[in-house]
Amino acid sequence: ILKHYVSGYPKESDMEFKNTTIKLNVPEGSSNVVLLKNLYLSCDPYMRGRMKKIEGSYVESFTPGSPITGYGVAKVLESGDSNFQKDDLVWGMTGWEEYSIVTATQTLFKIHDKDVPLSYYTGILGMPGMTAYAGFYEVCSPRKGETVFVSAASGAVGQLVGQFAKILGCYVVGSAGTKEKVDLLKSKFGFDEAFNYKEEQDLDAALKRYFPDGIDIYFENVGGKMLDAVLVNMKLHGRIAVCGMISQYNLEQAEGVHNLFCLITKRIRMEGFIVTNYYHLYPKYLEMIIPQIKAGKVVYVEDVAEGLESAPSALVGLFSGRNIGKQVVVISRG
Ligand code: NDP
Repeated sequence: ILKHYVSGYPKESDMEFKNTTIKLNVPEGSSNVVLLKNLYLSCDPYMRGRMKKIEGSYVESFTPGSPITGYGVAKVLESGDSNFQKDDLVWGMTGWEEYSIVTATQTLFKIHDKDVPLSYYTGILGMPGMTAYAGFYEVCSPRKGETVFVSAASGAVGQLVGQFAKILGCYVVGSAGTKEKVDLLKSKFGFDEAFNYKEEQDLDAALKRYFPDGIDIYFENVGGKMLDAVLVNMKLHGRIAVCGMISQYNLEQAEGVHNLFCLITKRIRMEGFIVTNYYHLYPKYLEMIIPQIKAGKVVYVEDVAEGLESAPSALVGLFSGRNIGKQVVVISRG
């Protein structure tokens, strides 16, 4: 339960547990509603935005005093929706609780391929996977041989963007916040180069070291100082896919970006996107990604926390970079 709206960095103590007794059935007369047993919950950076009062955004604020909602994987226990049957496995919007009653239409996807870890439907086969796919292929207009930079590169989205770019034949560099993550980028995900942005005094110099001829594509996950340094290192007609700006989410006042004039001089296309606008491509994405996973051509690293009790700490950990890979919480394995 979110106790209250949050300012600054979120803390575990902004959330609390409550035991309540609910009837485990779909309320009579309700259509499009399913009763779910939650199996895996997804911790995602956008959830920070929902911890404050927001209006006119693409998502709604959480309601203080009510359970947090977010992406997860669940089993249907009872269905009042003709599209879902008992024992179906689904991913989509659910509650941070053991059992949830949710409106199924448009918020839940049925899981057909169970021959992969089910938790993958919070990551590579769920929202973050679709984010990497749509952001890279649809927004970046990538071409073989181009130079690609990815920030927050070892995370749920970044690790996939890097692998997609390598498969296409690009030169790929990633930044991350620890040595362990930097090593992972090169040894596990096949990035050509990687660096720890926390150890660089001068981000502009670091980018020049890895991109002496400039960057064609920047997959933006962090914003702030990194964006400023990237702008001056972009090539003519470069593209920036603005996926997220996690360095700004806990600030009361967003940092200023100084080098936007480069958009004009270098004729850069900088485009923000929201993954939910691309969910119509999900079947096409599955067709591409599932064989790649099974053939070991695309790998995925998860950071798995055990039990609902560990969820607040797992969520808060995203903002200090404690997660290595996709942050998942296991509620039940069956
Ligand atoms: P990650 O799994 O990458 O987890 C977040 C990571 O961000 C941390 O591990 C940390 O890694 C890094 N980070 C945290 N604080 C900072 C900071 N102040 N400066 C720089 N890096 C920081 O998250 P996701 O892959 O799920 O999300 C990545 C980005 O994509 C986020 O900005 C998110 O909001 C965005 N997003 C956007 C979507 C869309 O539809 N547009 C959909 C999904 C995600 P490190 O140790 O490297 O610092």
